[in-house]
Amino acid sequence: MINHNAIQEDAVTIDPVLTDSIVSKKLQLSVLRLDKIHPVISGNKWFKLKYYLQDAKSQGYNSMLTFGGAFSNHIAATALAASLQKLQSIGIIRGEEPKLWSHTLQEAKANGMELHFVSREEYDMLKRTGDNQLLKQFGNNYIISEGGYGELGVKGASDILTILDTSSFTHIICAVGTGTTVAGIIKAALPHQHIIGISAMKNNTGLSAEIIELLQPGSLPANFMLNHDYHFGGYAKHTPELLCWMNDFFSASHIPLDFVYTAKAMYGIMDMIAKDHFEPGAKILMMHTGGLQGNLSTKPGLLKF
Ligand SMILES: *Cc1c(COP(=O)(O)O)cnc(C)c1O
Repeated sequence: MINHNAIQEDAVTIDPVLTDSIVSKKLQLSVLRLDKIHPVISGNKWFKLKYYLQDAKSQGYNSMLTFGGAFSNHIAATALAASLQKLQSIGIIRGEEPKLWSHTLQEAKANGMELHFVSREEYDMLKRTGDNQLLKQFGNNYIISEGGYGELGVKGASDILTILDTSSFTHIICAVGTGTTVAGIIKAALPHQHIIGISAMKNNTGLSAEIIELLQPGSLPANFMLNHDYHFGGYAKHTPELLCWMNDFFSASHIPLDFVYTAKAMYGIMDMIAKDHFEPGAKILMMHTGGLQGNLSTKPGLLKF
């Protein structure tokens, strides 16, 4: 029974995926089920938010403001996490107000978030700089960058590798949006571990630089690789083949994936396995970064979980 009021880090498990090709190639693939922490504040979003929440409270703020698109898991998670902490929240949403609100927006509003729709230009200006003059119109808020991008987000993401013992894995793979989560993983990983980030966006050429910025004063380590091959047309885009593949993967593994991030990452892993990217004996850990609430915006019936 899921308790919607509790964040359950101890619900995380490491689940094996056993398909014929994985076994025959002498590989191991497991999934770190961060999605089990909470249905909305799920996966990496909780880790990225937790130190911001703590910081906001310790500085005496009673309201937080953050940024995201209409399907943003970060918006959904922040709205609920703030309300559980008795904090108010404001969401600055990218682009014009849609006629039909996404499930994400409806849920954020139901959890008490005040939503403001701004043009894409204005949004891009506000999301990182936290331009205080412009943001003053929304009151005195603790400001969190889009996707929790920033030092405290990275610090929280580093905690992910401490929930369970992950030291024996040779490869750690996760879906990448802003790069905050993978930056935390890079910081916390052991020297023998290879880290692969699979970008959910198309041609996000600035991503490496943004990750480097998060690792300051560090640089990208040699054991890290960014992959741009599995975006399926772009951010939050999906094809009938991808949804079909998600159903097949669920039948084989009993693990539900989301179409924006984790399905693309897992598809990428399976494709890399098929192309012999990994040496026999590799122990691969895929981070299930959550995001399952986003599947509610697919047409009913297409996904069978
Ligand atoms: C937000 C999100 C990501 C991307 O995380 P970043 O830290 O922004 O790179 C990956 N997976 C899921 C499910 C997400 O919701």
